[in-house]
Amino acid sequence: MGEYLKKIVVITFTILIGMNLFPYEIYASEKRNVLFITTYSSCTSDFEKRISGIKEGLEQGIDLHTKYFSESIIENKEEQKYFVDELKNTLQEERYDAIIVGDYYTLKFAIKNRDEILKDLPIIFFGVSNNEIIEEAISKDKITGVKQALSIESTINLIRKYHPFTNNIVVINNYEDSKEIEALKNEIIPKFKDINFKFIYTSKLSENEFKKKIKHLDENNAILTIYPNDFKNSNWISDNDINELINETTNNIPIYNLVEEGIGSGSIGGKVVSIYSQCKKVGEIARDFIEGKKVKPLYISDNDANKYMFDYINMSKSQIKPNMLPEDSKLINSPKDFITLYKGVFIFIILFVVALIIVIITLIRYLAYKKKHEEILKKAMKEIEEINKLKNHFIINMNHELKTPITVINSVMQLTKYVKKQDEKYFISEKNIVLVEDNCQRLLKLVNNIIDLEKIDSQEINLNMENVNIVEVIEDTVLSVVPYAQARNIDITFDTKEEEIIMSVDKNKIERVVLNLLSNGIKYSKEAGFVDVRVYVCENNLHIVIEDDGIGIDDENLNKIFDRFVRVDNSLARTNEGSGIGLSIVKAFVDCHNGNISAKSIKNVGTSFIINIPIVIKNYNDGNDVKQISTDNYIKQELADIYL
Ligand code: ADP
Repeated sequence: MGEYLKKIVVITFTILIGMNLFPYEIYASEKRNVLFITTYSSCTSDFEKRISGIKEGLEQGIDLHTKYFSESIIENKEEQKYFVDELKNTLQEERYDAIIVGDYYTLKFAIKNRDEILKDLPIIFFGVSNNEIIEEAISKDKITGVKQALSIESTINLIRKYHPFTNNIVVINNYEDSKEIEALKNEIIPKFKDINFKFIYTSKLSENEFKKKIKHLDENNAILTIYPNDFKNSNWISDNDINELINETTNNIPIYNLVEEGIGSGSIGGKVVSIYSQCKKVGEIARDFIEGKKVKPLYISDNDANKYMFDYINMSKSQIKPNMLPEDSKLINSPKDFITLYKGVFIFIILFVVALIIVIITLIRYLAYKKKHEEILKKAMKEIEEINKLKNHFIINMNHELKTPITVINSVMQLTKYVKKQDEKYFISEKNIVLVEDNCQRLLKLVNNIIDLEKIDSQEINLNMENVNIVEVIEDTVLSVVPYAQARNIDITFDTKEEEIIMSVDKNKIERVVLNLLSNGIKYSKEAGFVDVRVYVCENNLHIVIEDDGIGIDDENLNKIFDRFVRVDNSLARTNEGSGIGLSIVKAFVDCHNGNISAKSIKNVGTSFIINIPIVIKNYNDGNDVKQISTDNYIKQELADIYL
């Protein structure tokens, strides 16, 4: 049992010691903090760029805090003391795992206070180009960072590539005695023997003097700005304003920059110091420190953190195309940027336009639907109106059609009664008998037509089909109306080349069709006119044409005459009797024979009806395929409208 306990104690201790040997494992569950001491306040334009760069490098799980180190602290001892006290408090209140400094002054401050307040804390720097302070910093334990170096040579190479006719490069910098100018003159210019370098030092010039110096530069020149901001009498001009000033004064001389801030306001671009890249690297180094990884004395000692950056608007002016740029170049102000920037607005506009189009289409369709239905309604109303009119017309017509024969019959009967009173032996005269008979026929015709109409409507027309010689049928029908035609002094003719056309028809119906058309021809003809009937065969179709030189029908009414109850309201027509049913029955009978009927007419010239019936012969197996013609007494009935 004692052995057992001993084992448990040993294992527990081993675990605890192991955890102490690997502090990261313990810290993993703790909150980690990094303090960034910065001379750039949150109001400055690239503050956000610095913060997001460091955060990107730190990744998740490490909090970044900032402490503002104002420039006045550098000069003022009192303020420096106050800042130190404040920093001490900050470091006591919270546990920090690393310090980041972002320029020469804060690095200097950190080195100076390394032992007193920042003891044992890893310090990582960026934004520093001064070699001496970098040397001093990296000689100490746990201080490392990235050096800020200008890409002068790479940017001159860009000028040479994109402006091959450039002879002179005008370098603009604050001071003549700067390290950058020294390096340029000693190390870089000797490599570019074919180019003249001119120098303008802004600290020696006022703004106007500067303008005068650049005014006469021609297209053989290109401008390279290093740090061009500090003018005579401590007049400080931003990179953007310098670019604008140069563009205003010169005639579009290409401008190249070495710092990111200078791009986007009139310069073409260059390989520029990228604060974001430096900050990201610094964040990564801080994380390495925290995770206990091995850390190098200096991470970037040259311009590796810099980026090729170009302004699409200005490079387009010099005919530089995006595909001519070095790989991984950053392009600003490109149409793509514009689209990305206003993506939300574009999507909104597109959705709005689509919604608008949908609304407009729906509205148009609704209006079209409404209009269509209004038109259908209007048409239906018109039809109802028309039917009503026809109905009224029909009733008035019927009234007339019934009244006239009844009045005639009644008159004859009254006269007979009266005369019979005078003379007991009186017999009704032959003339009056015919008159009564005619009017009875007329009444019968009307009743039969109404019955036929009813049959047509209920599709109950009985066809009594038989094979007949149709030429004979039509000729006999024409002959039967001759007395009626003569009574009106109308010349009636029958014309055909065919002697015999045998076909299957309902003879009675065909006779009624022809009689009706002949009756109309006589009724609506002029004095001493003619009615001509022609029969011929064309493409196995029987054609019957009934033509007159009567009053004719106007175009408006011509397409209505086959509708029932239609009577053309014509003063001449009204002198004749009729119900307006005849042609609708004619059409129905022709349709029964799979034929068709049409009419042509010219007002006051004449009318012709054309019937077209397919010639078909059928075998009826009754031993008598061709029926003999029998004369029916309905001729009188069909022509009852015409008084002899
Ligand atoms: P109706 O009994 O009134 O004659 P229809 O149906 O036979 O009735 O004819 C309809 C209308 O067509 C007639 O009222 C007449 O106005 C016109 N019509 C028919 N045939 C002729 C024709 N040959 N010449 C002129 N008008 C005609």
